[in-house]
Amino acid sequence: MSLTPNRASSRAQRRAHSLWAPWAWVGGRWQRDVLLRCNDQGLWTDVQCGVSASAALTQDATTQVLPGPALPGMVNAHSHAFQRSFAGLAERREAAQDDFWSWRDRMYQTALRISAEQLTLVARQLYAEMLVGGYTHVCEFHYLHHQPDGQPYPERTRMARALAQAAQEVGIGLTLLPVLYERGGFQQPTLRADQRRFATNAEDVAAMRQDIRRWQLPSVEAGAAIHSLRAASAASIERLCELSAGDPGPLHIHVAEQTAEVNDCMAATGMRPVAWLAQHVPLNAHWHLVHATHTEPTELEAVARSGAGVVLCPTTEANLGDGLPDVLGWLSHDTPISIGSDSHVCRVWPHELKLLEYGQRLIQRQRNVLAAPHQGQPSTAARLFEAAQRGGAAAAAWTHHGLTPGARADLLVMDPLAPGLAGVPANALLDALVFVTDAPAFSQVWVAGQQVVNHGRHVRHDEISQDFLQVMQTLHAH
Ligand SMILES: [Zn+2]
Repeated sequence: MSLTPNRASSRAQRRAHSLWAPWAWVGGRWQRDVLLRCNDQGLWTDVQCGVSASAALTQDATTQVLPGPALPGMVNAHSHAFQRSFAGLAERREAAQDDFWSWRDRMYQTALRISAEQLTLVARQLYAEMLVGGYTHVCEFHYLHHQPDGQPYPERTRMARALAQAAQEVGIGLTLLPVLYERGGFQQPTLRADQRRFATNAEDVAAMRQDIRRWQLPSVEAGAAIHSLRAASAASIERLCELSAGDPGPLHIHVAEQTAEVNDCMAATGMRPVAWLAQHVPLNAHWHLVHATHTEPTELEAVARSGAGVVLCPTTEANLGDGLPDVLGWLSHDTPISIGSDSHVCRVWPHELKLLEYGQRLIQRQRNVLAAPHQGQPSTAARLFEAAQRGGAAAAAWTHHGLTPGARADLLVMDPLAPGLAGVPANALLDALVFVTDAPAFSQVWVAGQQVVNHGRHVRHDEISQDFLQVMQTLHAH
């Protein structure tokens, strides 16, 4: 359980250099007979279509022939890893009203209990599940900073390091986003007692971002986040913007998830949250607005002008009763859209894309609402997949993504015999993956040229799940 560079170099030696797939998603569509090469740094160096398996093996006898069609990995743009230990434990109504806010009170009880060591083991389970579900990189919106009594750990980034350790051991890429969190609400200048583990100011967040970069861990990157407009003052947001000027990392913020938050923002500032952000913050392509559920057309236009992206978390937004975002509006403005699993009631990205479309179908009583045949994209799944690929890369502030030279060598191998995929022609496989499979359908998953899932299971599944079961027994013993 160490984070030494030796571990990284021993991994590099095991990285495959040449993979061949009968089909692969290259340049926004399925291509036949694809040969992919990656280097010791775990980046694609060459992607060739129309190379037969025998020709590939003649060129390089060590080429690994993949057992199914290959997709690029997906970025999970929004995660609070500790909430995995709470998933499934709030599905009973315990008062006359049950909404986001009562869920949050119950979630905080778990947040107050979990130790750094327990967080690593919970995150290992979660990240292994994400890999099986097709996510190869995760952006951690990390606000659980301090000890359970609220005192800072001697090491400022102790809890962030617990997450990095989990990501390294499981083999998923990670963007850590330390969160600015300083008050209980627009009219509550201090934190509530049960928010004591979250306290930070702008300087703390910028310092943690630098600490994370100094670790120089492979596939671990850093950015920053602001919890929300209700949890950070305008002055502190401005200070973090100053400290982030020129920084290469992404900036994320929860915004307009709940109507109560919209109303509080209106009462405090006279503006809706997204409108306030667009007017007071220098939004640009580094910014990613998480949820942005409750918006008006002028707010969509302001975000589109800025180049910022939005992070949608469909299963969590449904689970918490947040509401439905204006997906069609975001897509029509060409705003980058990424997806996140947030509270982790689901860790399978095809299900998130399905719910994104189904929400619209149920409202509009139409089918294939999010397809764009007029733009040459009649497949709903393909349009959403491409959008989430581009938006996910933007949310992680990547310059390259997908099966293309320069991008990290992440790959999902579909199981062509999985329930829902068997018998489906190649050109409909993505449609069937999103709308017809009801369990993860990836036989293999590769991250940075290293295989981490085989036969649909994480390569360290047994050890990871045993440790997780023990932590859950301890956390929920009462
Ligand atoms: Zn969140």
